[in-house]
Amino acid sequence: MNQNKLFQQTRLRLALWYALVMAVILSLCGFGIYRAISHTHWMTLDRELESVAGTLHDSIELKLQQPGELEPVIQKLLPNICVVGTSCIQEQLSSKRHILSAINQGNYYVRFFDNYGRLIAIAGTYPEGLPLVFNKELWQTLKDSKGHFYHQISLVLHTQENRDWGYIQVGRSLADFNSYLVAVKLTLGLGLPIIMILVGVASWWLALLAMQPIYRSYRQIQQFTADAAHELRTPLAATQATVESALMMSQLDEIETRDILQTLQRQNQRLTTLVTDLLLLTRLDRQSVPMQQDICCLDDIVNDLIEEFAALAIAAGVTLTSSVQVSTPLNVIGNADQLYRLFSNLIINAIQYTLPTGKVTVCLDRCNHYAVIQIQDTGIGIPQQEITRIFDRFYRVNSHRSRSTGGSGLGLAIAQAIIQAHHGSIDVQSEFGKGSTFTIKLPFDIRPLDSVRSIYPFKILYYRLHH
Ligand code: ADP
Repeated sequence: MNQNKLFQQTRLRLALWYALVMAVILSLCGFGIYRAISHTHWMTLDRELESVAGTLHDSIELKLQQPGELEPVIQKLLPNICVVGTSCIQEQLSSKRHILSAINQGNYYVRFFDNYGRLIAIAGTYPEGLPLVFNKELWQTLKDSKGHFYHQISLVLHTQENRDWGYIQVGRSLADFNSYLVAVKLTLGLGLPIIMILVGVASWWLALLAMQPIYRSYRQIQQFTADAAHELRTPLAATQATVESALMMSQLDEIETRDILQTLQRQNQRLTTLVTDLLLLTRLDRQSVPMQQDICCLDDIVNDLIEEFAALAIAAGVTLTSSVQVSTPLNVIGNADQLYRLFSNLIINAIQYTLPTGKVTVCLDRCNHYAVIQIQDTGIGIPQQEITRIFDRFYRVNSHRSRSTGGSGLGLAIAQAIIQAHHGSIDVQSEFGKGSTFTIKLPFDIRPLDSVRSIYPFKILYYRLHH
């Protein structure tokens, strides 16, 4: 329950971090998009103004004769032009003006100034509140009395004799430009929270995806610990019971004492095997220390084990044989102790799960770059639905039978871990009631052989002495 809470909290934290990082990234993207749109729009505006002003400038300049004087032909070119001092402008310069004849000419307005900066004429949609202060800077952004913005360009005009005539200013209101940017801002501002809600949902789901393998492996470790504790408790409880019953006896003769000691030794042996197996599995899991590698001749290992388990096979009434399909010895590079353990686990299983008069055969072959070892038996077989589970730690198809043979359910898990450490593979074919075949493939190592210790004969001796 507590762990579930921990996982939920971690998931929430992970989702929040995802969402936060995404929010920052999206906000930056949104800001970038806004800046790009506004910049492009501003550039288009400038180009438009430049082209209108350029066209006007070029066509007017051809007609100009006297500096500061507008020829009547120009007044014809701009029909809505209003010249200062004529009836269309009642008051001059800084005073309040009424534009009578300024008719709509798109959103543009045109102003003419003489060389001294005095207004000569205006045309187009002239904004009322715009100050008439002259400024000859090329590009200007102005603000009128009502707070509206305008953008304008100033160009120098020359007469036909190339004397300075004055200036032409072409400008336009920025109202539509600003309202467009406000619309973009609104879209981004409203879109971002909606996107963030979607990102939040996605983050919650992604956090689950990220947590799932960790949670699964955590549950496996929990299960493994529970199973290991359960397996350790059985011999410990048996030892405890034996000791307690011995203590309750008032007197013990030698036979009884020996009996009790043998029981204790058996349970102790079981505990030792279990702990050794668990340690081996942990070592194989961690792979922190590189395992010692030797050239191992599989033919010799198998023959050795066949000899080793001959007595066990006879006792079980099972015929144990080997069959070698290749003429040259099968040498692989690996850990001899572990390979002994691997094959002995499989051969012992085959003998134990085969009924008397049955057969167990160990076949050796090669296939491309692999040594292929098959352990076939005519035993009880494994139900199809159990095959995927038999490599799980502590898993036993029939726990009662397995326990009676002293099995803890770790044999195949250890075998699989050893095969993985040797970069090999294991495959099981089994028919319930007819028998099983375990096929192991181990790669021949391609490293130069002198980089590996060749101590194989001593290994066999070592193994025999210690097992
Ligand atoms: P155990 O120590 O119980 O033998 P293993 O991990 O070696 O544990 O095997 C797991 C289970 O797989 C066994 O309990 C047994 O039911 C099944 N099994 C393994 N090898 C064979 C086989 N050759 N024939 C039938 N069943 C097998």
